[in-house]
Amino acid sequence: MTHDFQGLLKQGSYINGQWHQSARQFVVTDKANGEVLARVADAGVGETEAAIDAAYQAFDGWRNLTANQRSQYLQRWYQLMMAHQDTLGLLLTLEQGKPLAEAKGEIAYGAGFMQWFAEEAKRAYGDIIPAAASGQQIQVVKSPVGVVAAITPWNFPNAMIARKAAAALSAGCTFVVRPAAQTPLSALAMAELAEQAGIPAGVFNVIAGEDAAEIGKVLTGSTKVAKFSFTGSTRIGKILTAACATTIKRVSMELGGNAPFLVFDDADLDAAVKGAMASKFRNAGQTCVCANRFLLQASIAQAFTDKLLNEVKALKVGHGTDNVQIGPLISAKAAEDVHQKVIQSVAMGAKVLLGGDYDGGAFYPPTVVSAVTPDMPLFNQEIFGPVVAICEFSDEQQAMALANQTEYGLASYFYARDIGRVQRVADALQFGMVGINEGIISNPAAPFGGVKQSGYGREGSMYGLDDYMNIQYRCLGGL
Ligand code: ADP
Repeated sequence: MTHDFQGLLKQGSYINGQWHQSARQFVVTDKANGEVLARVADAGVGETEAAIDAAYQAFDGWRNLTANQRSQYLQRWYQLMMAHQDTLGLLLTLEQGKPLAEAKGEIAYGAGFMQWFAEEAKRAYGDIIPAAASGQQIQVVKSPVGVVAAITPWNFPNAMIARKAAAALSAGCTFVVRPAAQTPLSALAMAELAEQAGIPAGVFNVIAGEDAAEIGKVLTGSTKVAKFSFTGSTRIGKILTAACATTIKRVSMELGGNAPFLVFDDADLDAAVKGAMASKFRNAGQTCVCANRFLLQASIAQAFTDKLLNEVKALKVGHGTDNVQIGPLISAKAAEDVHQKVIQSVAMGAKVLLGGDYDGGAFYPPTVVSAVTPDMPLFNQEIFGPVVAICEFSDEQQAMALANQTEYGLASYFYARDIGRVQRVADALQFGMVGINEGIISNPAAPFGGVKQSGYGREGSMYGLDDYMNIQYRCLGGL
C-alpha cells in the first residue's frame, strides 16, 4: 500500500485505552477494487465485556469532571479531526467507497458534532418549577445516564459515531461502539485521535469485530449499559430494541427511510433539480435520508425530468479518489439488490429513461426510471443506490397520500413557492425532517431523527443531549 496514513491506520479494537491484538483477524477492503487495506484483530464477546467494564469503571471519573473540562476534551478531539481531515477522508473513501470530496465533507460534518456538543455540554440546564404547595420547591436536575453502547452502519463510518459519541461524552456518559465490519478503520482512527486528545482510558471504546449478532447480544444484554443507540436498518433495529427490553434500557433508533421528494407546479425547477441531485446521489444513494421517490406534479414532470436527465448524464463514476461523483456501492451484493429492484419494477411497467445497464460488480450506473407506481419495489422499498424513481401526481391531496404511503418517516423534501402550500404540505408530511426548497438538511445544529418505523430519538441540536441524560425531580420541602 502506498498511502501514508500518519499513524491513523489501526488494526485492532480500542478498549480501556489499549489496542487489542488477536490471532483471529478479518479483512477490510478497498470497496472500489477489492484490494486489502487492513487485517483487523477480530473482537468478540470477551472484548465487548471488557470494553463495557472499562466504560463502567471510567464513568464516575468522567461524569465528575466539570462540563467545561469535558468541553475542552471534545474541542481538542474536534481540532484533531479537522487537522487530519485529509487522511481521515482518504481512509474513509478507501474503506467505504464514497468520493473523496464527500468523505472529507463527512469528516467535517462528524467533527462538527464534537464542536457543537463541546458547547452544549455547558448548557445541560435544569429547572425550578413553581411548587403546588407552600414551603416547597420543585427542582429538576439532569445527569448522565451512564454507559452508552452503540452499533453503527457502514454508510457514514465517521459521522454516525461522532454524533452519538459527542453527545454522550458531553453529557458525561462513557461510550462503547461497535462499527460495521465493512468500515471499522474510520472508527479506529477516531479512537487514536481521542487518545491524542487526552480523553481518559475507558471513556471512548471501539469494538471491531465481525460477528455483529454476538457483540450486539452483549451490548444489549448487559446490565452495566444504561442506554443503547443504533443506526441501521429497521429490521435489525426491531431485533435490538426487543433485546434492550430485557433490561429496560433507554434506546435511540435511527432506522431506514423512504424519503419522498415532491416537486409542485410552482417550484423553481432549477433549484429543485439541484436539490434532487444532491439529495439523491450523495454516497451513491446510500443514505437513509436520500430522496427515494420523486413525486412530480404532472404539469412540470417532463420539464423537471429533462433537466434532471442532463445532470445525471454528466455524473462520473469511478474510484472515489479519481475525482468522480459516484463511487462503488458497499458491495457487489448491494449493487445486485438495487438492480433487482429496477428489474422487478420494469417488469411491473416502469420505464428506464437512463442507465439500468448492470452486469455485476460494486458499481451501479446512475439510473432514472419513470412511471413508477406504489406497488413497485422502487416505490415501497429503500433503494440505497443511485436510482431516481419518478412517479406523477395531479394535485396536492394525491401528493400527500402518495408521500405518506410508507411505514417510514425519516426525511422528506418538497419544492414549492406558494406560502400557503408550503405550510399545508409541511403540516401534512408524516416525517421527522422536512427539506423545503432544500435537498441537504443535516447539520449539527438541527435535530436529526424520524417517526413511524424510522425510529425515535434525536441527534444533534439542543435536543440531542436529552437522549443521554436522566432527569431527577427533587421535591424540596420544609422551606
Ligand atoms: P445496513 O443495511 O446499513 O447494513 P444493518 O441494520 O444490517 O443495516 O446494519 C447496521 C449495523 O448493524 C451494522 O454495523 C451491522 O453489522 C449491525 N448488525 C447487523 N445485524 C445485527 C445483529 N443481529 N445484531 C447487532 N448488530 C447487527
